[in-house]
Amino acid sequence: MKSYFSYKDAYIEDGKKILEINILPEKYCNFDCVFCPIGRSKNKIDTPISFEGTEESIAELGKVIENTKPELVFINSKGEALVNDRVEEVVNFIKSKGLPVRLLSNGYILARDEYINIANKCDEIIGEIKMITEEDFKKIQRPIEGYTLDEYISNMVSFNKQYNGKFIFEITIVKGYNDDEKSVKKLKDIVKTISPDKLVVVRIDDERVKKTMWVSDERFEEIEKTLMP
Ligand code: SF4
Repeated sequence: MKSYFSYKDAYIEDGKKILEINILPEKYCNFDCVFCPIGRSKNKIDTPISFEGTEESIAELGKVIENTKPELVFINSKGEALVNDRVEEVVNFIKSKGLPVRLLSNGYILARDEYINIANKCDEIIGEIKMITEEDFKKIQRPIEGYTLDEYISNMVSFNKQYNGKFIFEITIVKGYNDDEKSVKKLKDIVKTISPDKLVVVRIDDERVKKTMWVSDERFEEIEKTLMP
């Protein structure tokens, strides 16, 4: 069986060598955002799923760690990494090498019983927000039927209340959706309720939608200034 994990070239961030790893064979996500850089999703799921080749993939990860000698491993997958039913083993394996783990999730399922203990094992968790009205959340991020923005935010709030690691909250500013004064105020309130350890504000970087969803440098700087504590 072949390994299906994939890697980015290691890079330096704040003086630390980071190894970025994808632990999904293709896109598996509970959302299907119109601006998703991975493309459309055939696999919209939020329950654990098993993939063939995980044994080989973890063995390969060991070799990659040995060769790269990173100082932190960042699990940034083609979708929601937590749905890989062996994600806990992957986290344990990295930690057994004495390395801290950062995991990117869109944040919706972090507080669920089947995932919370796995997320708690990670040293850093990234949760995010993009759309800030129920209507836009459903239309633009196309989550699993029944998901709501309200629940999305309260899931991250309750996760972070009990989490001892570093919770990084990433806000993406999207022109026409969350870049006006009222939206920025709402975003500021959301940040307050989630109370992250670190806030990151970014813009959409998918080439297909940049033309319509990219906020100007000037406006972006203003928003960033308002949001940053
Ligand atoms: S949450 Fe991220 S990975 Fe999932 S569909 Fe949206 S952009 Fe893609």
